[in-house]
Amino acid sequence: MFGRFAPTPSSDFHIGNLRTALVAWLAARSSGRGFLVRIEDLDLLRLPDADAIIADQLGDLNDLGLVHDQPVVRQSERTHLYEHALSTISDLVYECFCSRKEVAQATRAPHGTTPRYPGTCRDLSPAEKRRLRHERQPCLRINAASASVSVTDLACGPYTGQVDDFVVRRSDGVFAYNFAVVVDDADQGVDQVVRGDDLLESSPRQAWLAAQLGVPAPVYLHVPLVLAPDGARLAKRDQTISLTRLRQAGITTQQVLSRLARSLSLAPDSELVDLDTLVERFDPARLPRDPWLTDPLLWAAQDINPNTDIPQDE
Ligand code: GLU
Repeated sequence: MFGRFAPTPSSDFHIGNLRTALVAWLAARSSGRGFLVRIEDLDLLRLPDADAIIADQLGDLNDLGLVHDQPVVRQSERTHLYEHALSTISDLVYECFCSRKEVAQATRAPHGTTPRYPGTCRDLSPAEKRRLRHERQPCLRINAASASVSVTDLACGPYTGQVDDFVVRRSDGVFAYNFAVVVDDADQGVDQVVRGDDLLESSPRQAWLAAQLGVPAPVYLHVPLVLAPDGARLAKRDQTISLTRLRQAGITTQQVLSRLARSLSLAPDSELVDLDTLVERFDPARLPRDPWLTDPLLWAAQDINPNTDIPQDE
């Protein structure tokens, strides 16, 4: 079986992406699994620089030594698989004509969480659907009957969420992330999913969908994000902490790896580590549960003064 890392080619990796990739690789290797890389480029129109970014992302993984065991796949080339999977659960799927704004208005989602769809279009009559089809292109949602689903996360422990009627195919025909990810993991023999903990909230949906598709749900490991000291998420502007920039600043890949290992409580301050050592030490239950706060400006300063040591934030 396999673990995997599944980046979206929207920008080059920053230190947070590299850290999640490292944990995914260590989790797979330390549990005797193979390791896969899957490119999540479902929405190619919104990823205009995908090819160049994928090349850079794969280059970074290679430089860090996070070798994969099967050819890299791209979701944009796997639509036939999603079409087939959808056809097996068509009795659960219905057309939804609500706009994003209407969904947001109908729900009072706390800031920063995904609005929960209240089921507005679940029981439309055939006549209403015919009328609405003239006005709007529908998306497809799946009727989850508000199932409550628990998953086990290797680091966070049990997590329970209520599954709403989430989108499986957008109105422009592009398959939704929550659908494709489940189809892909099952198809690729992935039984261990490691990713950022901003996606923990999605895992009950995905585990529920796996059951509908008749495939086992994977085990999950959600890694706390890397944040700036003010709690802001690292963003495109934080490309200053990309492997390429750090190398240009004279910081070696091993130093970066060691700094990541330290942030994961896998190595003390001054130790320079290699991947074999980290595989031996890795234990998901002992990963830090809080975000890693690190200052992009400190890292950026490496560009100015390459002779300074790699940033220490505590
Ligand atoms: N493609 C997602 C991302 O780049 C990760 C999805 C997943 O691992 O399930 O954040």
